[in-house]
Amino acid sequence: MKESLRYEKEIRESSAFRTIESDIRRGEFSHAYFILSEDKDAVDTLFALIAMRAYCDSACGACKECRKILLRSKPDVKYLAEGSDNFSVKEMTEVTEDAGLTAFEGGRKLYFFKNFECVSEQSQNKLLKTLEEPFDGVHFILSAVSSATVLQTVLSRVKQVVLSAFSEESIKEGLIASGVEKEKAERGARLSSGSFTKARAFAADEDFARHASEAADLLVGLKGSADVHNYLKNPIFSKERILSSLSMIELVMSDVIRYHASLPIALREKEEEIGKIAEMYSLSAAGEALNVTLKCRERLKANCIAQNVADYLMLKLVEVKYKCR
Ligand SMILES: [Zn+2]
Repeated sequence: MKESLRYEKEIRESSAFRTIESDIRRGEFSHAYFILSEDKDAVDTLFALIAMRAYCDSACGACKECRKILLRSKPDVKYLAEGSDNFSVKEMTEVTEDAGLTAFEGGRKLYFFKNFECVSEQSQNKLLKTLEEPFDGVHFILSAVSSATVLQTVLSRVKQVVLSAFSEESIKEGLIASGVEKEKAERGARLSSGSFTKARAFAADEDFARHASEAADLLVGLKGSADVHNYLKNPIFSKERILSSLSMIELVMSDVIRYHASLPIALREKEEEIGKIAEMYSLSAAGEALNVTLKCRERLKANCIAQNVADYLMLKLVEVKYKCR
């Protein structure tokens, strides 16, 4: 039986996969790639497809080699930096030492780094030497949400590939094929900005309508800095919910931008609120607001307390609203 791989059809058709597939087919499989993408779900599938293709001409998904990859039981294929923890120099030293050893099964050896943004400068420097003097048959496939966190010296030694945003239709089809109900898949796709990861999160949110309303109500009600304390204890800013609330605020603000640009909005059910918010936030204020949510995410990643981040968020939103009138 064939193991299922999420969004396989869509990712096989991506230019990122086709580029690497064609490199392998022409015998020019690079010793290192850097895949730029914030779509972590898509990256998972892309990694699996690359690994299958490295050992099987059609990446069929059914042969012995492909099945080992799908079951993650192939000793020569390693998946690293999969979580949000920092990838230490010690771990990288183990990787580079391991890369110098003969392949377990005698063929190629692959190392996939999913969250290369979690690899510190020192660890990247450790990897650099291996990238400069690559071992035969050893391939590194790095991926990160941005190339800003990757050392120039590393970037100059890898082939860069962009995993582009997917169309709304592809995302909808991919979600349905992975078992998501049609209606939810449509909603997720519409709000996804081309990312399977975002689409799945929005499609899976059972209380989506309520969460969207809460974010819109907050932005309507937050008139000035005097209102900030009213919202600080709001459950949308609890430790558990603040990240998804930030996503909702981003959705609303993206719609405010579309509203100003006379484009169709994604949160159709919130049209009235979006109109009210657009009266308060100019086009440039809405753009600035999206930068503020980005900073909030960084603060949360650096372990700031949720309520402090909420305080910062609201004060900054009020500030950009007045500054960009
Ligand atoms: Zn196969």
